[in-house]
Amino acid sequence: MSAVLDHAQAGIRALQPYQPGKPVETLERELGIARALKLASNENPLGPSPRAIEAIRAAAASQHVYPDGAGFALRTALAETLGVDARGITLGNGSNELLELIARVWLAPGRRAVFSAHAFAVYPLVTQACGAEGVAVPALPADDARQPYGHDLAAIARALDARTRVVFLANPNNPTGTWFDATALDSFLAQVPSDVVVVLDEAYCEYVTEPTYPDGVARLPRWPNLIVTRTFSKIYGLAGLRLGYAVSSPEIADLLNRARQPFNVNALAQVAGLAALADTEHVARSVAVNRDGLRAVTDALQARGHRVLPSVGNFVAFHVARGGDAVSASAVYDGLLREGVIVRPVENYGLPGFLRVTVATADENAAFLAALDRVMDRLTGSASVRVAAR
Ligand SMILES: *Cc1c(COP(=O)(O)O)cnc(C)c1O
Repeated sequence: MSAVLDHAQAGIRALQPYQPGKPVETLERELGIARALKLASNENPLGPSPRAIEAIRAAAASQHVYPDGAGFALRTALAETLGVDARGITLGNGSNELLELIARVWLAPGRRAVFSAHAFAVYPLVTQACGAEGVAVPALPADDARQPYGHDLAAIARALDARTRVVFLANPNNPTGTWFDATALDSFLAQVPSDVVVVLDEAYCEYVTEPTYPDGVARLPRWPNLIVTRTFSKIYGLAGLRLGYAVSSPEIADLLNRARQPFNVNALAQVAGLAALADTEHVARSVAVNRDGLRAVTDALQARGHRVLPSVGNFVAFHVARGGDAVSASAVYDGLLREGVIVRPVENYGLPGFLRVTVATADENAAFLAALDRVMDRLTGSASVRVAAR
């Protein structure tokens, strides 16, 4: 038995699995409670579009039939919405599958992928699973005035070498919420050798209201080495169905499509995605709820003395503190769990002392803040949880 285990590919043997947010059902089972509030995975608090729910219902009875492996209807609708050639669209079982496909197409032992420190955890995972080397470039400093812990695109450009085959960028980044503007992206793209693939992960782009936020898709004609990934898991509220897409040149899409499973995107995801895409009103409402909630949660956390990283997504990372003293983030995380509120510890992202919370409805945000107040009062009553200010 141990011989077969020893022969597992070295990259896989050394993998530390992705740590998802704790599922609501798990916490409810553990605590014996009924209504836990999950603010750990940046899901849309408004749920899916009603039109998507109706499309799923209507398609339920025909699930004995294989899905359209080419995803024709959804790819056509995406192409129309985005103003691109449908041949450049690749559908994925969540955008995570696309990140993995990109790694499988371009990464292998002896090759490198470059990404920022504190970036989305899936980039190092898919890199290592292919036996390639991941290079985490130090982020902008913690005291950067505009983008603390954000991507340092100049440093990332300098880190590219002859072995680098892929660069992963998240805009905005998860878990920091930081972003880069059009000028920074354009100057970065101009510095990347044309034989290096640039992956621009825009999982939260629909939430961003900053006027200088760059549209990756609009840059595809100029940069044939660019791949933009997006998802139906966040603003479209379909995380449970697993649906994402990549936009690229048709030639790159052809490679990704060869590498994927023939039926990687299920039929319910395809019909729901199609309906969700058409429901621009639901998207607009989701943006508006998030814009108000992001401001409210940020202000409330700051008023309580927590440092909040500036975010343009549907979540914020905050450094847990009281009266200028840092408080153990894991103790606060555990305390919130006991209150029935699930947030996300981000120590594994190189952000010790921080927690990440998803912005939800006004009522849910208020419930989170009230639970946080109770936990902080309890914890700061006992000196043992105070840790030295950083
Ligand atoms: C949530 C998220 C995704 C989306 O993953 P899916 O597989 O599409 O659910 C991708 N990238 C980042 C940075 C994310 O935070």
